[in-house]
Amino acid sequence: LGGSISRAIQQMSNATIIDEKALNDCLNEITRALLQSDVQFKLVRDMQTNIKKIVNLDDLAAGHNKRRIIQQAIFNELCKILDPGKSSFTPKKGKPSVVMFVGLQGSGKTTTCTKYAYYYQKKGWKPALVCADTFRAGAFDQLKQNATKAKIPFYGSYMESDPVKIAEEGVERFKKENCDLIIVDTSGRHKQEAALFEEMRQVSEAAKPDLIIFVMDSSIGQAAFDQAQAFKQSVAVGAVIITKMDGHAKGGGALSAVAATKSPVIFIGTGEHMDEFEVFDVKPFVSRLLGMGDWSGFMDKIQEVVPMDQQPELLQKLSEGNFTLRIMYEQFQNLLKMGPIGQDGPKGYLVFSMLPGFSAELMPKGHEKESQAKIKRYMTMMDSMTNEELDSSNPKLMNESRMMRIARGAGRPIRDVMEMLEEYKRLAKVWSKMKGLKIPKKGEMSSL
Ligand code: GDP
Ligand code: MG
Repeated sequence: LGGSISRAIQQMSNATIIDEKALNDCLNEITRALLQSDVQFKLVRDMQTNIKKIVNLDDLAAGHNKRRIIQQAIFNELCKILDPGKSSFTPKKGKPSVVMFVGLQGSGKTTTCTKYAYYYQKKGWKPALVCADTFRAGAFDQLKQNATKAKIPFYGSYMESDPVKIAEEGVERFKKENCDLIIVDTSGRHKQEAALFEEMRQVSEAAKPDLIIFVMDSSIGQAAFDQAQAFKQSVAVGAVIITKMDGHAKGGGALSAVAATKSPVIFIGTGEHMDEFEVFDVKPFVSRLLGMGDWSGFMDKIQEVVPMDQQPELLQKLSEGNFTLRIMYEQFQNLLKMGPIGQDGPKGYLVFSMLPGFSAELMPKGHEKESQAKIKRYMTMMDSMTNEELDSSNPKLMNESRMMRIARGAGRPIRDVMEMLEEYKRLAKVWSKMKGLKIPKKGEMSSL
């Protein structure tokens, strides 16, 4: 997709005269690429209309960077489609929330339930899984296996055939056990049918979920919009998770799902394993969809916000891919120094938060205060580390006795040190994607 779009834009900017026809040709080309990427027809058409309104032909003709203006307009339009304008219900740690998963059979519900539970468990929550799929033989066994592997309590039955009853009993039981995230897995049967939707309604009435997550397989293509809409019309879908983003999926279906459910995508599944699960971030996703790579926007931004004399060193560190605790410390320092966290905040501190896949988790929107407190807490602990520890990128170095020493030195429980190291590992993974980065010379940066 990205290839065809860049080609279309390239062709247009090569044209000697940028007139209405040249722009139209370009937009038609882009439309075709988007349709091939499974973006729903109506969305593509609306987008085309919007872009024509935004892109001012006079500006284009006046020799401004045409490629950049058009690419930016497409980028913004796609981001807008993916942003339904409201965030989904966010569970609160320590307070019982019920989250119900719906979606067709095979979409990845059961797998994703466990990933979701595991994700929160790692952050110190007490999740639990309820198997309200009594339709498919083996459904309970599958959930049980996943849950056991992740040491997450589960509830289900081989005998009971009423999913409503199981949902009710399971939720009740885990509320009593003070679980703060009760996850209800449901059946998907095999196709969209009235009986399935009726069952979803009944389970929803029994479980009284705070949030219903619609799980969709990213490879279903143009069917995405209708499927998402059908679920939305039956139950109060409040968020979307797109699975199998690791395959050949083109990703356009995500746009359709958001448009159909008016709900944000919150995570994506990127593999069969428990930890192949990522917080969804609109901009890097769109970059990927447009084939700009996650990093092209990042490189430009780096150039914009990092003082020129600091760039070579930072880029060098990035390209080496070695993320040390010291780099994390320095970046945290910048972050706090530069004041409030936000996308359009002051220049200088953003380098870190611009890393795709980074900001959404460390600094979720609306939780800036907590994020800053957390960062300060991490830094206090890092103050108790030795130079060897700060400069090492060997994860094995941090054994238990070192962790205990750091915890004592900082006056924090050891689980805080573990949490900080988990965060470090996660960021190191993001950072390592930059390894081998070709460091552009000045003026060589890509244009978006
Ligand atoms: P359910 O019927 O909706 O509960 O779907 P399952 O959770 O049983 O998943 C169906 C299949 O998709 C299983 O083989 C999973 O391992 C696989 N699966 C789920 N999520 C992902 C993902 O993100 N990537 C890949 N590659 N496979 C996935
Ligand atoms: Mg299942």
